[in-house]
Amino acid sequence: MGKNDVTNSVGDNGKETLNLLTSTQIVIQDALQRLGLPVSAFELLREPVRMLQVRIPVRMDDGSVKTFSGYRAQHNDSVGPTIGGVRFHPKVNDNDIKALAMWMSMKCGIADLPFGGGKGGIICNPRTLSFGELERLSRGYVRSISQIVGPTKDIPAPDMYTNSQVMAWMMDEYSRLRKFDSPGFITGKPLVLGGSEVREEAGALGAAICIEEAAKLRGLPLKGARIIVQGFGNAGSYIAKFMHKSGAIIVGISDVYGALYDPDGLNIDYLLSRRDSFGTVTALFDGTITNEELLEQECDILVPAATSNQITAKNAQNIRAKIIVEAANGPTTIEATRILSERGVLLVPDVLAGAGGVTVSYFEWVQNKQGYYWDDKEVTMKLREKMVSAFHQIYDISKLNHVNLRTAAYMVGVRKMVEASEFRGWI
Ligand code: GLU
Repeated sequence: MGKNDVTNSVGDNGKETLNLLTSTQIVIQDALQRLGLPVSAFELLREPVRMLQVRIPVRMDDGSVKTFSGYRAQHNDSVGPTIGGVRFHPKVNDNDIKALAMWMSMKCGIADLPFGGGKGGIICNPRTLSFGELERLSRGYVRSISQIVGPTKDIPAPDMYTNSQVMAWMMDEYSRLRKFDSPGFITGKPLVLGGSEVREEAGALGAAICIEEAAKLRGLPLKGARIIVQGFGNAGSYIAKFMHKSGAIIVGISDVYGALYDPDGLNIDYLLSRRDSFGTVTALFDGTITNEELLEQECDILVPAATSNQITAKNAQNIRAKIIVEAANGPTTIEATRILSERGVLLVPDVLAGAGGVTVSYFEWVQNKQGYYWDDKEVTMKLREKMVSAFHQIYDISKLNHVNLRTAAYMVGVRKMVEASEFRGWI
């Protein structure tokens, strides 16, 4: 294979790629080839159709002005407006934001939503910003990207280290700019501002539904199943809570500082009560292990719910779980996916397991449009219906085509975008 061949996931120097954009391109190209779709489709889908980079000056509490860099990527708007979260994180960069927007497209296709994928981010450390500075940064970001976003163009949502308060400031800023109230501009809002029931826990609930379905497939009763959840942020903490409620034993959890593991089970209620707003809790304990060590501990189900490139060719052989459900974006490299598939591990990919968040974002947008709101039972039922149907559709495609669930998920994810792009005459 040539140096520039995107189907080559291991570089010429023998190292696997940790580049999220390259990895995404590899799987998209593979999915398109398996579907017999034209090269022009890959040319269109290999990068976002639009990528905006902005500089945001923010008045800090001490009177100085600090300028932050931000991005908004829109992958493909052939099916409808783009949608996707905004992350506040020191490691945000243009390459990853592009890949994350492409994953949102896959999630939308998989959940059969009338959207394409988008993603945004600001390079910042929210732990070091005051409430006022965070507000000014959030509002500044919306002013900077306002030309390319909107309820029928591109809909932002929460992601790493952004929450309903940030969404509220952003919605207010957009509404002021446009001079009319625009709840449909953004999702993940507080309930009182047109948010949806279940949105906060939707990403975790979607992953929990995938855990249930995967466990059923493997004949593993959830009651008593030993689960490790890496990450204790919005996704990880809710997943631990839901699985604990289902009778599973949470044997491991982690945050950015370290991990806790106890083969007899952790006290999840206590950990949830002591967790701070950044999802950290392990600092309260002695005898922690590292995140890397946690992944290799004994368990039945492993749920990476932290960040990307956690399971690589280096540690894939040492993972002991029989089922992996990716609640984070991009936690497993392509090479690791291959190794795990060969070992017979059932790996439910991020673009499927993580589709719950954007699905309820879609429900929120629909409710904003119609001005009539559903109760939590209705939202949960609608989410479950979509997740279970997507799970089984992808599982069946993987069996039929003898491919792993990631490739099967991308095959579903790209199909509608290609069809819509063909009808529009773009390819
Ligand atoms: N940030 C979440 C994700 O990566 C949710 C996005 C959304 O609600 O649109 O899937």
